[in-house]
Amino acid sequence: MKAKSDAVVIGAGPYGLSAAAHLNANGLDVRIFGATMSFWDRHMPEGMCLRSPWEASQLSDPAKSLTLDAFQTATGAPVRRPIPLARFVAYGRWFQSHAVPNLEQRKVVEIEKDTTGFRVVLADGETVRCGRVIVAGGIGPFAARPPQFTGIPHALASHSSEQTDLGRFRGQRVVVIGGGQSALESAALLHERQAEVELLVRANSVEWTWQRPWLHTFKPVGVVLYAWPDVGPAFVSHAVARPNLYRILPRWLQDSWRAKSIRANGVGWLKPRLEEIRISTGLAVLSAVVRGRQVELKLSDGSQRRADHVLMATGYRIDIRKYNFLSEAVVSALCLIDGCPVLGPGFESSVSGLHFLGAPAVYSYGPLMRFVAGADFAARAVSQSVARARGAAVGRRISEELLTRQTAAVQMPRGTIESSDHV
Ligand SMILES: Cc1cc2nc3c(=O)[nH]c(=O)nc-3n(C[C@H](O)[C@H](O)[C@H](O)COP(=O)(O)OP(=O)(O)OC[C@H]3O[C@@H](n4cnc5c(N)ncnc54)[C@H](O)[C@@H]3O)c2cc1C
Repeated sequence: MKAKSDAVVIGAGPYGLSAAAHLNANGLDVRIFGATMSFWDRHMPEGMCLRSPWEASQLSDPAKSLTLDAFQTATGAPVRRPIPLARFVAYGRWFQSHAVPNLEQRKVVEIEKDTTGFRVVLADGETVRCGRVIVAGGIGPFAARPPQFTGIPHALASHSSEQTDLGRFRGQRVVVIGGGQSALESAALLHERQAEVELLVRANSVEWTWQRPWLHTFKPVGVVLYAWPDVGPAFVSHAVARPNLYRILPRWLQDSWRAKSIRANGVGWLKPRLEEIRISTGLAVLSAVVRGRQVELKLSDGSQRRADHVLMATGYRIDIRKYNFLSEAVVSALCLIDGCPVLGPGFESSVSGLHFLGAPAVYSYGPLMRFVAGADFAARAVSQSVARARGAAVGRRISEELLTRQTAAVQMPRGTIESSDHV
């Protein structure tokens, strides 16, 4: 049987790759499983651009040498701003090849805990033993589908995470539901691919951010209003950028700022691309029924819509019980609030040795954790925590060995020859 690893990382998105880069650099014995940047590559629409600014779209390595700027230089191809999805995926792969060459593109199917650590079972049947598990499994399993669409075939209504090629809706009538960046950008992409689009927004208006980019980028003003990750409203952004500070704020303030920082809105550069699109606000979908090869929607104002397809850009509701690789015993030992594990220092959960990074850490470490920008803080914190735990374990092993040897020496009768080959 292979020796026990210090840690296993599950996930090869921005958080898993960054954590693995730091753990590798710390000389820890770590195994990492997942498909490189798979959520970005397989669950976001082709042609999309990142909403996060340049500085906030960096993966993290300890030397800070694998940045987007370094990627541009190394590949000799400039990256546009806003950053195109395909280039970001290429950046993630380049980062992985340099900082995490030990990535294994394999799927984890079960995690179990026993008295000596964790058993991580892979889809191909191998079982890996390790002292710690770092879950960076992303938001894929948390896609939120409105219950009105239960029973509507996938061909007629799908979640935005299920569509990558929006060109397949060319010439069709598509209703997009949602008022966030994903809904707005999907509507723009559909329109540009010659679909007939209507956007249904439940709120009374579409909210925009970055309408006056100079407020964010013009140094003397921008740095006072917004911290570098630019997550959250003016001023609040500074607390959000400091997860250790955010953690000690009163709970009511954390909750209020979290809601304000991740509420649905669109980035200003998208606005001109929506000018020719019908946007209906203040409308909720009450019911959906199949009518022939279309779907019919009843709306809260009494009106109806028919569409060839409904695209639900309705976001993600975090609930880590949906990570089906967590065994029932592990889930029941986790302290959960709003589907998120309550995390202590080093992103460690109530199950000792089990850490969660990315969106599930939002309850404990704030809204930064829903964005790539949080990966640097999380990777540093978790790798320090794993290194400390390993140091303590090694220290314990050494002192136990010393104690055993000292006891043996005291008990050793005169004339006995000590041999390290015999126990
Ligand atoms: C449409 C859209 C646009 C977005 N745009 C931005 C943006 O511009 N900027 C930004 O900061 N954030 C953006 N986000 C949020 C973004 O998804 C997160 O910031 C980011 O993906 C979090 O990274 P992660 O590493 O936690 O998860 P992910 O990137 O989702 O990676 C999850 C990883 O886990 C692996 N995995 C899952 N299950 C298993 C398993 N059982 N075994 C092995 N591996 C497994 C996957 O293969 C994958 O490698 C956007 C989200 C969406 C939906």
